[in-house]
Amino acid sequence: MITHVDSPKHQGWRKKLIEEIRTKGIKDEKVLQAIGKIPRHFLLDPAFDHIAYEDRSFPIGENQTISQPYTVAFQTELLEVKPYEKILEIGTGSGYQSSVLAEMNAFVFTIERQKKLYSKFQKTNPFADKYKKVKYFFGDGFEGLPTFAPFDKIIITCGAPMLPPKLLAQLKIGGYMVIPEDEDGQQRMKRITKISETDIKEEQFGNFLFVPMLSGKAE
Ligand code: SAH
Repeated sequence: MITHVDSPKHQGWRKKLIEEIRTKGIKDEKVLQAIGKIPRHFLLDPAFDHIAYEDRSFPIGENQTISQPYTVAFQTELLEVKPYEKILEIGTGSGYQSSVLAEMNAFVFTIERQKKLYSKFQKTNPFADKYKKVKYFFGDGFEGLPTFAPFDKIIITCGAPMLPPKLLAQLKIGGYMVIPEDEDGQQRMKRITKISETDIKEEQFGNFLFVPMLSGKAE
């Protein structure tokens, strides 16, 4: 069993990271505070301990990555998270994004399609006691979680080929979906507001790089 230590050294690196992503344009203090509370190095292989607070993505196995802190902060800021909101995340990965949302007091439902990542995180989740509000599911994010719908907000943390219709159906009217949508190999960050059952509003926020959103489960 790995015993994690959040040393003053890690806390210092985390403070620097917060200032770095603030300089890059993140303004929401609640988002910055949440990032400042998550010991990201707990979610990474010990080999990354000394670089865990660089503003970069890192491999987490199965050809997947933990998102870059700036990207996590950017998507979280766009979500405008309020306490007790029900938020669906597609792409649990390392569990970093879901921990940030839980730290902001959201009720998080998160889906991962890679069985190995899902199982690994179930076994090793260092925040299991702290963030009891996070519910983890193994499944295909394109399907969403109809049993738990509707959601106040939906966040997709992989590059989606289009707006997944089933996810839009599971979003509350007035709710946001933050989605990096694939356009010619890059992902354009979009915030979709569900205006009514038939209307949406779309806002665009620049290009990012994500691993692709793939259909089906990988056992
Ligand atoms: N949110 C993660 C980022 C993980 S990278 C974090 O904080 O670390 C994106 C993840 O999305 C990968 O783990 C990948 O396996 C997963 N993914 C891709 N397509 C998916 C789908 N259709 N449903 C659920 N997860 C998916």
